[in-house]
Amino acid sequence: MKHSWLLLLATALFLPACSDPRPADGERTQDSPVNHILLRDFAPTVINNIPVTRVERARFDIIDMHSHDYTSNPEEIAQWVRVMDSVGVLNTAVMHCSWIGRPFEEFVQAYEPYKDRFRFWCCFDYTGIDTDEWPAAGIAALERCHDLGAVGIGEMGDKGEGDTYARPADGTGIHIDDPRLRPLLAKCAELRMPVSIHIAEPYWMYLPMDETNDGLVNAVTWHVDTADCYGYDQLINSFENAVRDNPATIFIACHYLNMNHDLPRLASLLDKYPNMYFDISARVAESAHTPRATRDFLIRYQDRVLFGTDNGTEPSMYHNIFRVLETNDEHFYVPEYGYHWPLSALNLPDDVLRKLYHDNAERILTQYR
Ligand SMILES: [Zn+2]
Repeated sequence: MKHSWLLLLATALFLPACSDPRPADGERTQDSPVNHILLRDFAPTVINNIPVTRVERARFDIIDMHSHDYTSNPEEIAQWVRVMDSVGVLNTAVMHCSWIGRPFEEFVQAYEPYKDRFRFWCCFDYTGIDTDEWPAAGIAALERCHDLGAVGIGEMGDKGEGDTYARPADGTGIHIDDPRLRPLLAKCAELRMPVSIHIAEPYWMYLPMDETNDGLVNAVTWHVDTADCYGYDQLINSFENAVRDNPATIFIACHYLNMNHDLPRLASLLDKYPNMYFDISARVAESAHTPRATRDFLIRYQDRVLFGTDNGTEPSMYHNIFRVLETNDEHFYVPEYGYHWPLSALNLPDDVLRKLYHDNAERILTQYR
């Protein structure tokens, strides 16, 4: 007995360095790594022994309701179609607005060999909006793009200064509830063309760029200065005005209406306006850092959600989205999304996935037409 006490004492006196006690909270020594590693360099490696699931093909056929003209020649379009085949995308919405490229006519022509695989969306043309020609000129332009094959309007975009994605004419100062747009929005209802619009930006981009900002690493890049234009709430109000005042027109709020941080508020808008839908494009990271709240929300609004990508044509881009929607993986990083936080997947039920991937879009684009 005495012998073992001596052994314990000897062990305590010769503790190796690795058993140094952890400093108490707030007692970070000067040379501690936390004083030297920059936030922008923080790139943790997950060490947990937990499932890592690769999903190379979606569980159900997909209609992608939010993409752009990322290609510049016929081979790139053919390659995109091969990728769509491999990941399970039947059809992709190619939105002409917000994408500086070829004129609409040329763009439709370029995709002609695959016209059953792409749907085209065009812009409002604001040429002549301040003249006596309006609204006739705007309606004529809309009918022209409809005749060329456009199935919807989009992606319109308002980050405070008006429709910044408009082309060929400038849309500065023209918000979606502008009375001058009423005749065009009514025409969209008549032509059965949904209006897809990007309103505002994720809320972190409006907050102070300091240590309290949860989305800081991304927010510094996309920071929104609202000094001379609409702020977040004004933009949301302008969207709500348009949706309320044009009940026969279908509005698709891109990117969860940039409201991932406040799903109850998004829910209340969806409850009020049956002509409102939302797409999940380019908001994977913003939705998968609150997986339980997002999952509940998507299950509740399973008839109003649309699949979208908005992020190029690489197979891995699709795989990342499928992993988040379909699996039960947790605590993983996707550095391309730019945030410091880990993601956890949503494990959506099959009947919800089917609607999100395909059925809701099909209903809007065909039955509604
Ligand atoms: Zn887009």
